[in-house]
Amino acid sequence: QHPIVELSKKTKKSYEFFEQSKEVMPGGVTANIKYFAPYPIVMEKANGAYVTDLDGNVYIDYLLSYGALMLGHGDTRINEAVIEQLDKNGTNLFGTPHSLEIKMGKKIKEHYPSIELLRYTNSGTEATQLALRLAAAYTGKNKIAKFEGHYHGGYDQVLLSVNPSLKDAGDAKNPKAVMESKGMDTFHQTNTIILPFNDFKACEKILRANKDEIGALVLEPAQGGFMLAEKDFVHQLRDLTEQLGIVFIFDEVKTGYRLALGGAQQLFNVKPDLTTLGKVVGGGYPIGIVGGKKEIMMESAPTIAADVFDTSQSKNSSAKDVLFHSGTYNGHPTILAAGLRTIEILEKELDRVILLTDELKMRLEKLFKSYNIPMKAVGTGSIFSVILTEKDKILNYRDLQKTDLTTRKEIDFYLLAEGIYTKPLNRYSLSTAHTMKEVEMTIFAYEKVLKRLYG
Ligand code: PLP
Repeated sequence: QHPIVELSKKTKKSYEFFEQSKEVMPGGVTANIKYFAPYPIVMEKANGAYVTDLDGNVYIDYLLSYGALMLGHGDTRINEAVIEQLDKNGTNLFGTPHSLEIKMGKKIKEHYPSIELLRYTNSGTEATQLALRLAAAYTGKNKIAKFEGHYHGGYDQVLLSVNPSLKDAGDAKNPKAVMESKGMDTFHQTNTIILPFNDFKACEKILRANKDEIGALVLEPAQGGFMLAEKDFVHQLRDLTEQLGIVFIFDEVKTGYRLALGGAQQLFNVKPDLTTLGKVVGGGYPIGIVGGKKEIMMESAPTIAADVFDTSQSKNSSAKDVLFHSGTYNGHPTILAAGLRTIEILEKELDRVILLTDELKMRLEKLFKSYNIPMKAVGTGSIFSVILTEKDKILNYRDLQKTDLTTRKEIDFYLLAEGIYTKPLNRYSLSTAHTMKEVEMTIFAYEKVLKRLYG
């Protein structure tokens, strides 16, 4: 029986619910990523490493809300921090600076020595948007360079060549800028320059040719959180961007506090000019952070002219002389309380999660090998993906596209029916709530599926 048919029998309520969702939200979802065909499984409850759907099926959760939940679901220590904060008088959203902004900032600076000053935002998307504006303000150069296959949020400036079909993507050494959404401003196809990941020579050629216009180079130090950049590549880019006056931005929204406490930059021992964080640092609540070199971050420091609404004070300087950054909910106290507690817990527990992830990766590779199926568990730290390939190394988006995604998807649907949850084709993220028991259960489920397919 096809795995989707099998799964459909177990998830009838999800189907019915999804039909109702379509009456309320376009396509039944409020974020396109929540959809997968034929219909998404609708979760109702969660606890620790587990989620339960509307039909009562229980799954080990490896999606963890796209990596955001580093302590799993409902960790009482985060709940306590949030309640403690709320008990102080509600949300304490004063619209003024407050003490948690400093406490959290000091903690982040301790783990990320490249961060001298920082700003809070409400999402990873907003964080990368601000980082790119800071870079443009600092350098006076408005074009940006990003890598093929890398995601930095859903806005026009970066929503290019994230997942283009190979036939549209052009030459591997000089990829085309492919728009990923209807309704985008075509301007960005020329203003955002696309680079091939892990190919320094090709990048160097493009960056040198456009050095007078490119103000920022942004990268996911591990594409999708799992496909780690080559160490030499990162160091060569660090040197080159410095030489060409380009602000080097590490988008660690996914990798921060997941690959290591100090993110991918700690593993590479490299200091980017700017870093963005998100996901884990919100403890399950929405957040983004931008931090980095003082002289760049100071572009966002307010002056009299920054108060764009106060025309009486703007006589001598124009608002355009300063960088605008604002947000009603920036540095939200409830969220910072959850985030800070999460980070404090990870100081003690992240190593254990990483060891457990290594164990799961090793056991999965061994299992696939016993069935003679070429598979690599690609990833570092507490995140990885199951890649069906004979290649030794998967270095970029094009390599990934050439792996056996069809079989991977089929396996994923069988696994869903066996109670292993990640969105089909997605990554595996682990949390402090995962233990050897879940690893054993996962291996058991995989073995059952592989036996069925290949046994
Ligand atoms: N940057 C990276 C590397 C991401 O993985 C994501 C989200 O998946 C974002 C930015 C956008 O973050 P958010 O969804 O919080 O806006």
